[in-house]
Order: sequence, then C-alpha cells, then structure tokens
Amino acid sequence: MVNIIVIIFALLIGSFLNVVIYRIPRKESVLWPGSHCPACEQGLKIGDLMPVISYVWLGGRCRYCRDRISPRYLLVEILTVITFLLVFLKWGISVETGTGWIFTAILTITAFTDLDEGIIPDLITCPGIVIGLLLSPYMIGIKSSALGAIIFSGICISIAILSHGGMGGGDIKLAGFIGTFTGYGGSMITLIIASVAGGIWAAILLWQGKAHRKTAIKFGPFLSVAAWLVWMYEIEILISIFGYSLYTY
Ligand SMILES: [Zn+2]
Repeated sequence: MVNIIVIIFALLIGSFLNVVIYRIPRKESVLWPGSHCPACEQGLKIGDLMPVISYVWLGGRCRYCRDRISPRYLLVEILTVITFLLVFLKWGISVETGTGWIFTAILTITAFTDLDEGIIPDLITCPGIVIGLLLSPYMIGIKSSALGAIIFSGICISIAILSHGGMGGGDIKLAGFIGTFTGYGGSMITLIIASVAGGIWAAILLWQGKAHRKTAIKFGPFLSVAAWLVWMYEIEILISIFGYSLYTY
C-alpha cells in the first residue's frame, strides 16, 4: 500500500522534473504558464498530463497537433518511479529516503538537460550544493560533505585545465554537488565509474565512426548515473572490487 503511494508520488515528481528539464535551459519559469505543447502551444488539460498513461494513450503524440512528443517524457517518468522506489525500499520512511529522493531528482535533471541541450544549469547545481551541505549532518557529516565538494570539483577543474576544455563549468559544479552527498571517498569512486563508462562509450562512438578524436563527450549523464549508484550501493561496489577481505580486517 505504501509502495503504491510512493509510485504515485514518484510519477507526479517525474512529471514535474520533465517540466524543469525542458524549461530551465530555456530560462522559462517552471510554475507559469501551465504546461503546453512545444509545437502548437496548445495549453494541456489534466487528461493530457497523466504521467505515463497520457503518453501511452496518445501514442506519444500531441492530442491537438499530433506532433511527436519526445520519448524523454516517458523515460524520465519511468526512471523516477524506479529510482524513488529503490531508495524507499532501501531506507523506508526516514530522513535518508527524503535525502535520497532530493539527490535522485537533481541528478535526473542534470543528466537530461545535458543530454537534451548540453547544459548543466547553475540554477540547479548551485542550490544543490547548499542543500547537500544542509542535509549532510543527517548523512555523512558536514566535514566529509564540504571536503567532498572541494576535492571533487577541484579534480574536475584540474582535468578541465589539463584537457583544454574537455570538461565544462557545468560538470565542475555538478561534481561539487555530488561531493556534498557522497563525500570525497564516494566522489573518487564516482569519478572512476563515470570515466570508465564514458571512455567505453567514446570508444564505441569512435569505432562506429559517429565521433572523431576531437568530439566532446557529454560527461554529465555519466557523472549523474555513477553518483546515484555510489550513493545507493557504495558498500556493494567496494566489496565487488576489493572482495570481503577489506571488511574483515
Ligand atoms: Zn501540439
């Protein structure tokens, strides 16, 4: 029963995250005006705004102009349900769950604005850093949180300088935000996972001829996914790498 309430809550949040992902990079208000079709500007009614259901019912098209709606809307809603439910199943009714949901929501926004527009908005990451520091006493402690932000963003600044712009300002602030939630240890694991995954992705694109050596790979989605996995499964990841021996001594 509680799980069903969480699913409905996550669907509504996912629907709101879609609005944020579309509007923030375009510098539009997320609260006003109400949702409208990007193609025909028609205002959408409650029947058009049911998460997942409306998309499937309308065959992924606008009811009014029949223009295709980006599958990203459906993807974000489903992803929000899965991630919110996993956080809830792990932590139950607790501060950790609330913290995890905030972390998940912000990472979802940064991953998809980077995918869609190549932007990781300061308007999301900078307040995110403040939120991470404010919530840190309930998680990893203020010291670990602040160190995480400084060290992770510092490493990313170094990479940006050494690679002559291979990493953008958006990635650096995103790393700072992630550091406030994962601490510096978790940040290092996040960076390793994101780099390996991003490297494999770049190699696939090169191999398929869809990229050349100067093509910039969007790093935000890799950082976001890696950070979420580390926040949720850091212990399991460490054990799978180093084995149980790390914890028996
Ligand atoms: Zn339309």
